[in-house]
Amino acid sequence: MDFLSVLRRGCAFAMLLLTFTVPSAQGEEPAMEAVGLTPGSVEHARTLRDRALDGTMAWDIVEALTTEVGPRLAGSASEARAREWAVQRLQRMGFANVRIEPFEIPGWTRGAERAELLAPFPQPLAITSLGGSVATPEAGIAAELVAFESLQALRAAAPGSLSGKIAYVSHAMQRSQDGSSYGFYGELRRVGASVAAEKGALAIVIRSIGTDDHRFPHTGQMRYAEGVPKIPAAALSNPDADQIERILGRGLPLRLHLLLRPQSAPSAPSGNVIAEIVGRERPEEVVIIGGHLDSWDLGTGAIDDGAGVAITTAAAKMILDSGKQPRRTIRLVLWGAEEVGLLGGYEYLNAHREQLGQHVIGTESDFGAERIWKMTAQVSPAGQTVVDVMAELLAPLGIAPGDMNTSGSGPDLVPMVAAGLPSLRLVQNGMDYFDLHHTHDDTLDKIDPEALDQNVAAYVVFAWLAADSTAHFRR
Ligand SMILES: [Zn+2]
Repeated sequence: MDFLSVLRRGCAFAMLLLTFTVPSAQGEEPAMEAVGLTPGSVEHARTLRDRALDGTMAWDIVEALTTEVGPRLAGSASEARAREWAVQRLQRMGFANVRIEPFEIPGWTRGAERAELLAPFPQPLAITSLGGSVATPEAGIAAELVAFESLQALRAAAPGSLSGKIAYVSHAMQRSQDGSSYGFYGELRRVGASVAAEKGALAIVIRSIGTDDHRFPHTGQMRYAEGVPKIPAAALSNPDADQIERILGRGLPLRLHLLLRPQSAPSAPSGNVIAEIVGRERPEEVVIIGGHLDSWDLGTGAIDDGAGVAITTAAAKMILDSGKQPRRTIRLVLWGAEEVGLLGGYEYLNAHREQLGQHVIGTESDFGAERIWKMTAQVSPAGQTVVDVMAELLAPLGIAPGDMNTSGSGPDLVPMVAAGLPSLRLVQNGMDYFDLHHTHDDTLDKIDPEALDQNVAAYVVFAWLAADSTAHFRR
């Protein structure tokens, strides 16, 4: 018996105990009734949870998506194939109202990319273009490399001090369970090019925003500030960044040749794929779950975000197959063009602004494929009654309630949450997430099917209870 099966047996035992303690107990019933939850409804959530731990179709979904479609760069023909793939599969599964909501985005495709040190020790380096970067001239750029230990240090450089040079910026991102340092360290990737251009730089090369020690550079979207020259931007793998820093430590000047040939287009097609379980009593009220269908082009987008697509689709499918319809509609949204600026999320808000008030609550799975360990929410007192029931059912899965004054929702719901959508977050263990994130190494073999099923168990509890209650979650 392996370690995981031991863990799982522990879970099954805890669940047995829980059967006798969940708040279908007498004292809690008036509060539960007030939010529309019957003992039968809670029992159904528990049954679905246990069924998920016995195995779901999540693995099959992410296996098929990453195998049959592969990488799914936003705006590309393969992202379009992913939409068709999803529509066919969701229709076959029996969901209602399966459709694509199309929109246009700025197009960008990767081209040839290469870097080598010309001096003092000539050798090739592993790099990749940042998403949205402009190209170098066809012959590339050869220039002196000027190093900074952080974005803050680059910001402090004198204007004009980098004229005719390439900026190199390091940083000290560390792994963490909740991945919260991505916001801070990721800023270098997002804005570094324009900060360097303000100082006169010809190009910028950064240490990858990642925590691994493999020779895989991490891509990811960057953006240019208005009124500043656009310069090419690339990321070095962590071992290559170490190499650069060892040479710098010898006090020797570095000269780099950089060639990046991505192409931009004014417009490219994208879209959100939507499928529903229509509510039996309040079909106009919507609970949203989902993941994003697009991925970066280097790997096959297994953890980012094939896993999220699979977890939430499998959870919805379990409810569909359970023979019970929730009071409210469950809407599965497989978002398009997330990686290039949450564009699917903004398009959804624009298209559904009139129905914003009927969106009851939402969440997204977009932080890999590891187990969920924490739940956070920010909801009304009535909503909290439902969340408390969820918490009881999730505890045996190793999921503890966290701060109930922090919403969080996953990136694609950020625009809707900013517009007032209540949200809840099922927080995955992100310790290894930034080892793989946006690299060639984001592939199916990194996913543990049992961890995926633990996620499905949590999502099925959330989706069922939120949709079968009558609670208003808005504060
Ligand atoms: Zn993602």
